[in-house]
Amino acid sequence: MMNTIEIRIRGTVQGVGFRPFVYRLARDCSIKGWVQNTPEGVVIEAEAPGDHLEVFMRRFQEDLPPHCIIETLAKKEIPPRGFKSFEILPSDTKGEQTTLVLPDMATCQECLREIFDIQDRRYLYPFTNCTHCGPRYSIIESLPYDRANTSMKHFQMCPLCQKEYEDPLDRRFHAQPNACPVCGPWLQLWDAQGRVLAVHGQAMEKTAKFLKQGAIVAVKGLGGFHLMADATDENTLQLLRRRKNRPHKPLAVMFPSLAAIENVCKVSGFEKRLLVSAQAPIVLVRKKEDSPSIAPSVAPDNPYVGAMLACMPLQHILLYLCQSAVVATSGNISDEPICIDNQEVLTRLDGIADYFLVHNRPIVRQVDDSLLQEVQQGPYFLRRSRGFAPLPVKMPLRSKGILAVGAHQKNTVALSLERSAIISQHIGDLDTKESIDVFERTVESLRQIYSSPLREVICDMHPDYTSSRYAKDLQVPVVTVQHHQAHVASCLAEHGIEDSVLGVCFDGTGYGEDGTIWGGEFFKNEGNEFKRVAHFRLFPLPGGEIAISQPRRCALGLLYVLGHGNLEPFTDLACMKSFSLQEVGIIKKMLSRNINTPMTSSMGRLFDAISSLVGLCHKTTFEGQAAMALEFQAEGNHVAQGYPYAVMSDTVHKDCLVIDWADMVSGVVDDVRRGVTLGQIAAKFHYTLIEIIVDVASRVGENKVVLTGGCFQNKILTEGTIGRLKQKGFVPFWHSQIPPNDGGIALGQIWLSARRKAPCV
Ligand code: ZN
Ligand code: ZN
Ligand code: FE
Repeated sequence: MMNTIEIRIRGTVQGVGFRPFVYRLARDCSIKGWVQNTPEGVVIEAEAPGDHLEVFMRRFQEDLPPHCIIETLAKKEIPPRGFKSFEILPSDTKGEQTTLVLPDMATCQECLREIFDIQDRRYLYPFTNCTHCGPRYSIIESLPYDRANTSMKHFQMCPLCQKEYEDPLDRRFHAQPNACPVCGPWLQLWDAQGRVLAVHGQAMEKTAKFLKQGAIVAVKGLGGFHLMADATDENTLQLLRRRKNRPHKPLAVMFPSLAAIENVCKVSGFEKRLLVSAQAPIVLVRKKEDSPSIAPSVAPDNPYVGAMLACMPLQHILLYLCQSAVVATSGNISDEPICIDNQEVLTRLDGIADYFLVHNRPIVRQVDDSLLQEVQQGPYFLRRSRGFAPLPVKMPLRSKGILAVGAHQKNTVALSLERSAIISQHIGDLDTKESIDVFERTVESLRQIYSSPLREVICDMHPDYTSSRYAKDLQVPVVTVQHHQAHVASCLAEHGIEDSVLGVCFDGTGYGEDGTIWGGEFFKNEGNEFKRVAHFRLFPLPGGEIAISQPRRCALGLLYVLGHGNLEPFTDLACMKSFSLQEVGIIKKMLSRNINTPMTSSMGRLFDAISSLVGLCHKTTFEGQAAMALEFQAEGNHVAQGYPYAVMSDTVHKDCLVIDWADMVSGVVDDVRRGVTLGQIAAKFHYTLIEIIVDVASRVGENKVVLTGGCFQNKILTEGTIGRLKQKGFVPFWHSQIPPNDGGIALGQIWLSARRKAPCV
């Protein structure tokens, strides 16, 4: 007796070798019928006698290809069709778009073997890929995922490639970017004026030679250009830093192999798995005490190095030719988006790169390298981009048609689908015209790819954010969400938490409900609303925005309060000495007359202030610099006691607690004067913050504690808090799929808005 079924699958099922998998399995199980890509996903009709279909379905679940993610699977019996064979039908392009776009995937082992096999026709071919690896999101223009809808559309496959592409039993069956030296993209090496110096393999050989000689080369990668330089050459790296106007921020390093990383760094088992994964992210790993093989300028005064492995054949071959590690930092000027275009790169990186290694496979959108560290033996994102974006985060909420535009820094945007949210690649700080352009294009392309009618757009409460203004210009209902509540919500979304929690948000700055700048916040969620149950005592920020890059101004703000309007008692401290007498006079005037001096409860600024108070960092050239310096000092120092602090109740909102830092700051000042080591002071400060979190959790009486906000990029703070909370019987939650920083805001915005409309299901 014949049985016939129809299976409809949604999820990440295009571009992962899904149809060939179904095809092979169907043949194995003697199933007749067809499989087809549609805008919604994949549809299968299968017909077979007896229990063949059951075997098919079981093996289907068990043998699913590695990068395939099934969101939903609907199966129903249909009338017999009388199929004669099993076929792969041409894609159906009509209907609503719900299939998921795949992220770019690092070169697989089989492709790697081919490019280093001198007998293989793809020997040293820099654009080798197959259905298990290669570019996806960075080349997709629209769905369904077919070659004609990618930036590979202009390359006509040669007969050999075409044969692979059409053979359901081949690893390259329907591998859309399939290419070889005969028919695929190729390389050119340009000098700074764009004159061609070499092509094909010679371009790579020359690039390797130039790198060895100390040149800085812009190399086109998967999701954008890198600036590459020999990681062992201190002079070149200093030159790169000067040219890029990036004096201190750590530079990522691409190593030729895992073994090469292990020569220089201590790498844990988990970190190894991350490094060699198909996502091939940058992983923060600890440098060995004296690792002479990378130059000090890679990451000055930093015990970690951002290490990664090559993610495309071009990089594998280049690193093989160099035989040593290269710095691979994003090809941009300061915080602008990375360059992706061959012509544009010549002008934008003019004066920075000596040479340009370019190719003619266009990059459709910028996809930066992802950046992770290990926290509690698990992944912890600092930047979620290549390899992960645009994969969705699951949400147990029906929330279709919501666009969230994120905040201002480290911007990402998110679009809600049926029961998940697509989070965009890292866009960056929306400070420049270039980044605002990328922001707008990202929103438009997500909307277009998922052809999503918008019901609602969510933005930050800050009225002046570019993202907020953009949201208000769309002809769609707008909802504003408070910044730190969105942070907490992002962690709730990740974990699917519906119960009440204590949400701890230690962050840089965000617009508060009362118009002050928030950032050291504790919330309790009751139903779908967040209540601020505690916050750090406010302190003044003389100079407002300027104070963000001048921790010493934050320090003076604290001291001014501590000295009851008098800075005289603190003239011996380094933060005071870093100013001229005249400057101190001006700042004091600003403080006393309240000129351009907003009040803040920001934990980020408190970290900055302490970092300056102890004399570590008075001015910064990148975000987080002062706090990182303090964290690195604290490492390895154990303390049994923190500084004193007081808990009071808010004068206006009586049921809200205020954490008074005054005694703590006095304690720090005393320790500095007594000559206590920086390490001890820094460790004591971290310890105090951890105790405060536990204290507030006890007072509020919430068992579940959510840790979020930019300050939780600090590993000592995060792991210390998790450990202490567990010890005291609390249940801590932290991020593992999205960053604790503003890169996670968009997801939180969607969650909060969806939560207000629909209960969890
Ligand atoms: Zn492959
Ligand atoms: Zn070919
Ligand atoms: Fe934030």
